[in-house]
Amino acid sequence: MLQGARHVHMAALNAAAKDSGIEIEIHELRKAADLDDAQPHALVFPGGESTTMRLTGNDSASELLPAIFRWIREDSTRPVLGTCAGAILLCDPQDGGEPLVAAEIDRNAYGRQVDSFQSALDSTLLGRQFPGVFIRAPRFTKVGDTSEVVVTLENEVVGVRHGNRLALTFHPELSQDYAFHEWLLQTAKEVAA
Ligand code: GLN
Repeated sequence: MLQGARHVHMAALNAAAKDSGIEIEIHELRKAADLDDAQPHALVFPGGESTTMRLTGNDSASELLPAIFRWIREDSTRPVLGTCAGAILLCDPQDGGEPLVAAEIDRNAYGRQVDSFQSALDSTLLGRQFPGVFIRAPRFTKVGDTSEVVVTLENEVVGVRHGNRLALTFHPELSQDYAFHEWLLQTAKEVAA
């Protein structure tokens, strides 16, 4: 909750919970201790500005970012949804450790804010199309052997899955389709069972 499209994700999670009948409790994380208190079953890394997230998340008043990276690495089954800037942080944590999603990603690869766009996407994870909203989006430049391409825009990769971690270069919380949020809740439910 330090920066970016946070509240829209909360609304999307609530809508997905309602649609799927899975009861949820949302915890807002701002500092490392919030993560310890919350003991979450899943995590959303929102879109926004990855440089700002790195700065605020590493600030001594927060230290949330290293705590999140630790939490994700502690247990590879923990479900994580990273969107746009969140996907950048998962693929390129810049903390000296392994990427959390094995893929290389290039920031602002489509150009400036005015080059933001919407397009229908194909998703093998959902088995159908999904409305993609791209805002100063990054672009996957390479997908690692341990990752799976699960969303495409024509021939381009826009969604990569690494186990229960999903990195999307678009903003699923900004469409009225909550299927990726439902995937996160379903995965969390299966892991917790
Ligand atoms: N351009 C942003 C970055 O580099 C990402 C944009 C977004 O999250 N919508 O972090």
